[in-house]
Amino acid sequence: MDWADELAMRVRDSGPQVVNDSKTPSGTVHVGSLRGPVILDAIARALRANGIETTLLYGVDDLDPMDAQALLTPDAVATEMGKPLAHVPDQVDDGHASYARHHAGIFIETFAGLGIHPDRYYWMSDIYPTGAMDPFIRTALDRAAQVREIYRRVANVRHPDSWHPLGLICPVCGRVGTTIVTDWDGTNVFFECRRDLVDWASGCGSSGWVSPFGGAAKLPWNLEWAAQWSLFGVTIEPGGKDLSTAGGSRDRSDAIAREVFEREPPLNVPYEFLNIGGKKMSTSKGRGAAAHAIADVVPPEQLRFLFLRPRPNHAIEFEPDGSDAIPRLFDEFDRFASATAGRPVKGELSPGFEATFRYSLLDPAADVAAEAAAFRPAFSHVALLAQIPGVDVAARVEAEKGSALTTRECAILDERVRAARSWLASYAPDRAVVKVQEALPALAAELDDAQRTFLGALIGATAQDPPASGEAWQTAIFDVARATGVPAGRAFDALYRIFLGRPNGPRAGWLLASLAPDLVAARLQEAA
Ligand SMILES: [Zn+2]
Ligand SMILES: [Zn+2]
Repeated sequence: MDWADELAMRVRDSGPQVVNDSKTPSGTVHVGSLRGPVILDAIARALRANGIETTLLYGVDDLDPMDAQALLTPDAVATEMGKPLAHVPDQVDDGHASYARHHAGIFIETFAGLGIHPDRYYWMSDIYPTGAMDPFIRTALDRAAQVREIYRRVANVRHPDSWHPLGLICPVCGRVGTTIVTDWDGTNVFFECRRDLVDWASGCGSSGWVSPFGGAAKLPWNLEWAAQWSLFGVTIEPGGKDLSTAGGSRDRSDAIAREVFEREPPLNVPYEFLNIGGKKMSTSKGRGAAAHAIADVVPPEQLRFLFLRPRPNHAIEFEPDGSDAIPRLFDEFDRFASATAGRPVKGELSPGFEATFRYSLLDPAADVAAEAAAFRPAFSHVALLAQIPGVDVAARVEAEKGSALTTRECAILDERVRAARSWLASYAPDRAVVKVQEALPALAAELDDAQRTFLGALIGATAQDPPASGEAWQTAIFDVARATGVPAGRAFDALYRIFLGRPNGPRAGWLLASLAPDLVAARLQEAA
């Protein structure tokens, strides 16, 4: 059974479920950050599939302070550092109401394309002014000593006895990262906006008694998280592994939920990171790894599959730049589809592969058996066909299938052609980019006698009945190489030289299958 179904079985008898996640929109969101939303969606689908009433929420923690100087324009650093992200102007002139709306907006826009449709999005900058958080602010202030004790016990963090768990938004300078609250009289708090509280922002020096309610203040993160659980009735919330360490954010919020807000915290589903090139790619800056950039190349079902194939507690290694990672992802997806359709596949598959395939589909109501049975041309083959002038890609793929493509299969092919073109223009390694030479290239002169013998034998083996698919060509090449005693590497070298004018290239079988049979025969003849 798949992990998401296991989870659904565990909570089956505990009533309606509210699944939640939230994110601080601190800058460009990288592809690894999609793991949380995809896991969230798979959980919601599994709960619903098991007949459990489920609400899916996604929040934006946009009153968190701006603390990343590098992401501001130089003249904005002095004025904006330390302000709530929702109050920092958009640094890109494209019409968003704030810095937070810009970054969260771009991230959230990828959700629908991935088949993730939360029942509700909430923005903390909208929630606080409604007064909905006021009861939690009051409880936190009343129980400040208890909160300090929890920080000491759970996280070994010692706050002074005057410290109160509240982030007041300075009524003078508007910063939230520079203020501390040192007293509470049941109606108002006493705050100080300090110049030197943090080294990344400078407060204005104001102080005084003010009301903390109605949007004037926010709870510190651990308390805000626990308050969200109470406010929205959250029962399941997956969390990144960085938050789920002993004494970490999750432990603190769990303790605050139980002891301060007196509610059992939601079930945690800790998940590991997606590593790009060996580096953790959750929020750091990285070339070509923005969530929306990857989503432009990898279609939604393969992107969902990337995150759902390993269990949440396993890290994912993904290095799309200059590698075959993206073609391999398609191949793996196709293998899961084949296995789900009951066709034999190479290699082992983990139990639960059917659920992994099902939850990778864009449409939760899709006919899984029909989807699994659909014909999917290999991505590398499509990438090759897309580069060869004058090729009718659909006709070639249809020939490979052996019958007409269904409407759905045409759509899959179109999607793969688009993905292949984007991949070739962005992440593909040089060897995947091919240009078939119009005449026998000069490099063919360097072929040795054994290679010429191989080419001659390949004509003999294929002239009567040319192989119809890349696989069939690949088999023919290996068979003829073996029969003529030519090492496979030398055989492929010969084929790349005579067709591409270089000593390497993509899988030769697929290359030959992509070309017109008479061109292949004539070129082999000429070179042999
Ligand atoms: Zn914008
Ligand atoms: Zn201030």
